[in-house]
Amino acid sequence: MPSPTPDTTFDVAIIGGGIVGCATAHFLKNLDAAMQVAVIEPDPTYEFASTPRASGGCRVQFTSPENILLSKFSIDFIRNAGERLAVDDARPDVGWVGGGYLFILPPDQVPNLAANVKLQNSLGCQVDLLTPAELKARWPSMNVDDLGAGAHSPGDGWCDPHSLLWAFRRKAASQGVAFVKAKVTAMDLGASTVRALVLDDGSVVRAEHFVNAAGAWSGDVAALAGMKLPISPMKRYEHYFTAGSPMERIPYVKDLARLAFRSEGNGFSGGLVRGTVPRAYDFEVDHAYFEDVVWPAAAHRFPPLQAARCHRTWAGLYEECELDGNAVIGRWNNGLANFYVVAGFSGHGMMHAPAAGRGIAELIVHGRYESIDLCRLGYERIEQGEPYRETGIV
Ligand SMILES: Cc1cc2nc3c(=O)[nH]c(=O)nc-3n(C[C@H](O)[C@H](O)[C@H](O)COP(=O)(O)OP(=O)(O)OC[C@H]3O[C@@H](n4cnc5c(N)ncnc54)[C@H](O)[C@@H]3O)c2cc1C
Repeated sequence: MPSPTPDTTFDVAIIGGGIVGCATAHFLKNLDAAMQVAVIEPDPTYEFASTPRASGGCRVQFTSPENILLSKFSIDFIRNAGERLAVDDARPDVGWVGGGYLFILPPDQVPNLAANVKLQNSLGCQVDLLTPAELKARWPSMNVDDLGAGAHSPGDGWCDPHSLLWAFRRKAASQGVAFVKAKVTAMDLGASTVRALVLDDGSVVRAEHFVNAAGAWSGDVAALAGMKLPISPMKRYEHYFTAGSPMERIPYVKDLARLAFRSEGNGFSGGLVRGTVPRAYDFEVDHAYFEDVVWPAAAHRFPPLQAARCHRTWAGLYEECELDGNAVIGRWNNGLANFYVVAGFSGHGMMHAPAAGRGIAELIVHGRYESIDLCRLGYERIEQGEPYRETGIV
């Protein structure tokens, strides 16, 4: 759709057309096909958006019930995306690989890991606690000398984020969602509502409800509404590398130091997140990072990686919630009450987009959550300065 003429009016205007914005639009139309929905996205190539730069990992291994339930719904959805997001006879292939996740921890962390597994099991997720000997039996290349246990979730896996984003976008467009190629640069604010968005081409979009789904840019978008949202862009590298010696395929392995990588084709994809990196819209790649930081940790865990070769490194942005590393999902009840946020996933937004998008859609259409109660992830905890953290490793 071309940019709207002044005074275009919708029921819902979504700011940001990454995976979160597109999933929200899709679920809005599922719940109410008559609803007029617009997604405002300046860059249909998604050059700097986080979604196409993501690693694609999807896991149920979280420690808050909300995140576990967001994953449960979303993983089932992503596994069945071909059917759920089909447009006529065209079934998208989002490249799902059911490779599983494996969290590995030192001996002193075993009680914590066991408690996490118990909670995940109680919510219907298959997660198995494995001893070092059992880990070694399944993945013979793994160095287990310093490990106390591992938690393996065989139903987890990874997909191609770019394909999933476009599957949502095409589906939403087929349902009648308008995609507006523009950037939101200002807002027309009333006393208790957002009245309209002003776009960079000078046009105006009016709506009943406005959703901030601008990912790493969501703090800036919130500021246009006068909302303080502590979500900032945090650079993180992803590397594709191959082993120097033969090695078995591995699940998505994560450890306490935030080393996280998995099999990808003939090699491996992943990285080591450094949470202290300065916040900025920074896409510069430090090619020494793999050699200096990632490789020693990966080779310690899997000795066949001693001779690993890094073929490609890219940088993308986490939309980091500085309060507690968890998403902010909900309506600004104490401010502009038709303004919603669904952002700040801090590295989990691709996997949680289906359930989070459905949640915001329920809030708009029904006025409350119907499937998963996401109230604890709402903006109120930001206003009150009360973190709601994951207690496990993330
Ligand atoms: C290297 C890396 C690896 C990752 N691995 C994983 C993983 O394994 N699993 C996982 O779940 N997540 C992962 N993530 C995180 C994941 O990529 C994000 O959580 C997710 O993509 C967020 O989606 P989004 O739609 O909110 O943001 P985006 O995809 O960034 O989309 C936001 C959109 O908002 C638009 N926008 C910005 N400002 C404006 C404005 N003023 N007006 C209109 N539009 C605007 C932008 O153009 C952009 O397209 C990873 C991220 C990185 C960088």
